[in-house]
Amino acid sequence: MTVRVRFAPSPTGYLHIGGLRTALYNYLFAKANEGQYILRIEDTDLERSTREFEQKQIDDMKWAGLEWNEGPDVGGDYGPYRQSDRLDIYKEYAEKLISEGKAFYCFCTDEELQAMKDKAMEENRDPHYDGTYRDYPIEKAKERIANGEKPVVRFKVPIKSYVLKDLVRGEVTFPENMVGDFVIMRSSGLPVYNFCCVVDDALMKISHVFRGEDHLNNTLRQLMIYEAFGFDLPEFGHTSLLIGEDRQKLSKRHGATSVTQYRETNYLPVALNNYLCLLGWSHPDEKDVFTLEEIIPIFDTKRFSKSSAIYDIEKLKFINGAHIKEKSNETILEEAKSFIESDNPFHNQSKEWQLGFIELFKKYINFYVDFNQYGKKVFDSKLSDDDEVKEIAALEAMPTIKSYLQKVIEEKLAAGEHYPTSEDFQGWTNHVKKELKIKGKPLFKGIRLVLTGETQGPELKDLIPLTPYKVIAERIKLI
Ligand code: GLU
Repeated sequence: MTVRVRFAPSPTGYLHIGGLRTALYNYLFAKANEGQYILRIEDTDLERSTREFEQKQIDDMKWAGLEWNEGPDVGGDYGPYRQSDRLDIYKEYAEKLISEGKAFYCFCTDEELQAMKDKAMEENRDPHYDGTYRDYPIEKAKERIANGEKPVVRFKVPIKSYVLKDLVRGEVTFPENMVGDFVIMRSSGLPVYNFCCVVDDALMKISHVFRGEDHLNNTLRQLMIYEAFGFDLPEFGHTSLLIGEDRQKLSKRHGATSVTQYRETNYLPVALNNYLCLLGWSHPDEKDVFTLEEIIPIFDTKRFSKSSAIYDIEKLKFINGAHIKEKSNETILEEAKSFIESDNPFHNQSKEWQLGFIELFKKYINFYVDFNQYGKKVFDSKLSDDDEVKEIAALEAMPTIKSYLQKVIEEKLAAGEHYPTSEDFQGWTNHVKKELKIKGKPLFKGIRLVLTGETQGPELKDLIPLTPYKVIAERIKLI
């Protein structure tokens, strides 16, 4: 069987990260099975759908690297791929169901439907459609339509239970009477999602449908429609929901939820894909950091999880940083340059210096923009304003350390040297230890304070070679 999967967003807003996760799972499944990944735009809600949102969602998916084999922009053998371009098809299929007695025209007004609901509630029954037009003669219905009335089309729901063998949730049973005769075509002639989705999935020969668990109720209706047409069922996999720390469905309250926001705040697409993939699927070796290329050969529906996944932005940040750290320093340098502000002294240094800077500070960052603060700090001659600085500055040995270092630094400057080497630093430490007989806190923290203006930070043997003598000389004066 040829694997054909689709992602079917509605262009009624920005692409949600939950949507991107669904797209990813379908994409990965297609790639893992040498299948086709299709993009279908579900825009039958004409009032809320716009071409602008469609384009934005397409741009975001391209940014994420999920290119489709068939879709509205690239075409394919099963198009059109935008539902608003397929309205004639839905009309034809709805008429087929009507002619076979599997769907019917319903002329109930909103008031009548409301009264029907109220009555059912009063009588403690499910508020389902009561069947008023279920068996209405088709000739009469057609006559009323010819006279200008605009009915909806309802599906005749069979009185039976349905069982779904879901790839993620296992066997799901839907008892009978969960839904009443539901609308498949609106009075405007536009189809309703559950109907056009089945028609499209069947005509586009979709073999597997991966989507969020929140669609399970739709799936029940869709199973009925598949059955009515005698279409082959695709396999379904309903993935777990994304929830916030408070265990509520992920929403704007929990922070950025659109892919555009992540894109604009400099997340790497590889990191967002990696993290979203982990929310509902796990790597067989429990790996947390990976690329899509790496997992395509091992992507397997058995590793989907049934429980809801808590969205943890800190973990996403960490994964972003982890992907940066996997790159070579040369690549980081190239990619990071445009994220470092133009007035940062970083830009005026030699390439060798810049590579040393990246090697040292990459372990502290999750984003390229984070390099900014370190770039400034290396050249900053201010003293850190904290209690430990005051405590170390007051130690008895400090004047001795200070005057020794001041002397060596001044000599170096006088000799026209710009940067110390790691060996220079090692030599100064040995001198303080062996000749000046200073050990413990003043040795380690005292030297650091004099040279960097701080009591904590990266390894001095790596940091000092990046720090100009001129800056060190300024700092010493402040101690
Ligand atoms: N347009 C639907 C949505 O965005 C698609 C659901 C599905 O995958 O069937 O939720």
